[in-house]
Amino acid sequence: MSGASEAMLLGLVVLVGTLMVAMIGSTYLLLRLREAETRLHEKEDQHQGILDRLQENEYRLRTIIESEPECVKLQAADGTVLEINPAGLRLLDAGRPEDIIGTKIYDVVAQEYKDIYRENMRRVFAGEAVVYEFKSITLKGRVCWMETHAVPLRDARGAVYALLGITRDITEHKWAEEQGRRHQTELARVARLSTMGEMATGLAHELNQPLSAIANFARGCIRRLRSGDVAPADLIEPLEEVCEQAERAGEIMRHVRDFVRKSEPRMTAVDINLVVRSVVKFTEHEARQNETVVTLHLAPQQPRVWADSIMVEQVVCNLVRNAMEAMAETRTLRREIIIRTVRNGGDFVEVEVIDTGPGIDGAVIDQIFDQFFTTKPEGVGMGLSISRSIVESHGGSIRAESRAGGGATFRFTLKAIPIRLNRDERRYSLHS
Ligand code: ADP
Repeated sequence: MSGASEAMLLGLVVLVGTLMVAMIGSTYLLLRLREAETRLHEKEDQHQGILDRLQENEYRLRTIIESEPECVKLQAADGTVLEINPAGLRLLDAGRPEDIIGTKIYDVVAQEYKDIYRENMRRVFAGEAVVYEFKSITLKGRVCWMETHAVPLRDARGAVYALLGITRDITEHKWAEEQGRRHQTELARVARLSTMGEMATGLAHELNQPLSAIANFARGCIRRLRSGDVAPADLIEPLEEVCEQAERAGEIMRHVRDFVRKSEPRMTAVDINLVVRSVVKFTEHEARQNETVVTLHLAPQQPRVWADSIMVEQVVCNLVRNAMEAMAETRTLRREIIIRTVRNGGDFVEVEVIDTGPGIDGAVIDQIFDQFFTTKPEGVGMGLSISRSIVESHGGSIRAESRAGGGATFRFTLKAIPIRLNRDERRYSLHS
C-alpha cells in the first residue's frame, strides 16, 4: 500500500471514530435530556400534587370557617377587616361581605369600648392571645355584647401579619347576668324590708319615747305659762329638751329611710361599736319580748373600718335576729346574746355574736350561708347569704361555729383602717 492510501485509510478510520464518538455522545446527551425531562415531569406532577393538596386544604379550611356557627374574621393591625365568614356577616347585620371587608372594625365597636378594643388589638399584634368583651353596634344599629378570642397569625418569618378572631354574641348571657344581679339586689331589698317589717314594732316603741317626752315637756311649759308665774328663762331648758327629743325622733326616721332605701354603698370610716349599739337599740323591744338579755363586750378604742354602716348594721341585725329566733325555738333556760368586738391582729376588727340557743346541726353547718337555706318553717334563707356577701364585699370573712355546751357563735371580720388614716378620717362618723 502506498503512503497516500495509508494516509487516506487512517483519515477514514479517524473520521469514523470521531463520528462514532459524536453519535455515542449525542445519544448520551439525548438520554440525559430525556431523563431530565422525565424528572421535570415528575417534579411538575409533584408540584401539581402539592398545589392540589394545598387547594384541597384551603377548600376544607374555608368550608370549616364558612360553616362555623361563630364569627371568624381576620383583621389587619389598623383594624381593617380582611376576611369574615357568613356567621360574622350575620352577627354584624351585614348583607354582603363587602359591607364589612375593607372597612374598619371600629365602625361596629361602641364608642366607649373603642379604646379597650384598640389596646387588645395592640396586644395581639405584639404576639399575645387575648380574650376580650366589648359592646358592639351592628350595621343596623342593634346593640349587642360580644366576646372575642383573638390570636396572632404569623407569616413564614414569624412576623404577625393579622389577627384571627373568633367572636360570639354574649348579649343573652350578659342580660341574664344583669337580671341575676338585679334579682340579687331586689332580694336584698326584700330581705331588708322584711327585716324592717319585723323591726317596725321596735321602731314604733323607739319613736314613742321621744314623742311622749316632747308632749310632756310641751305640756309642762303650757301649764307654767297658764299659771302666769314663770320667767321666760325658766322655759329655755324644757324647750331645749323638746328640740333634743324631736331631733332624736328625726334621727330614728332617717335611719329607717336609709335602711329601706335601695342605694349604692356609702363608704365611711365606721366605728363598729356604734353599729353594734345602734342594732341593740333597734332590737331592744324584740329582745325584751323574747326575754333575751343582750350583753355587750365592746373593745375600747377600736380602729375604724371602711364600710357602709347601714350594710354592716344589717349583718349584725341578721345575726342578732337569728340568735333570738334560735333561742325562741327551744326551752333554753337562759336566753342571752353576747356581742363582742375584738381587735384582730391589728388589720381586722372582729365582731362575735354568741347565743345560748341549740347551736347548729353539724350536718347543715356548711350550708347555712347558702341562698335559700333555712330550717325555719317561715324562713327565707337569705339572711346569712346576704350577710356573707356584705362582709366579703367589704374585704372580710364570716363563719359560724356550734359550741360544745350548746349555742352558736357567728364571727365576722372587717378590714381596719390604719390608725394614721383613722385620725384623718375623724370627720366621718356613723350615718354621716
Ligand atoms: P332564715 O333565718 O331566714 O332561715 P338565714 O340565712 O338567716 O335564713 O339562716 C339560715 C339558717 O341558719 C337558719 O334557718 C338556721 O337553721 C341556721 N342558723 C342561723 N343562725 C343560727 C343560730 N344563731 N343558731 C342556730 N342556727 C342558726
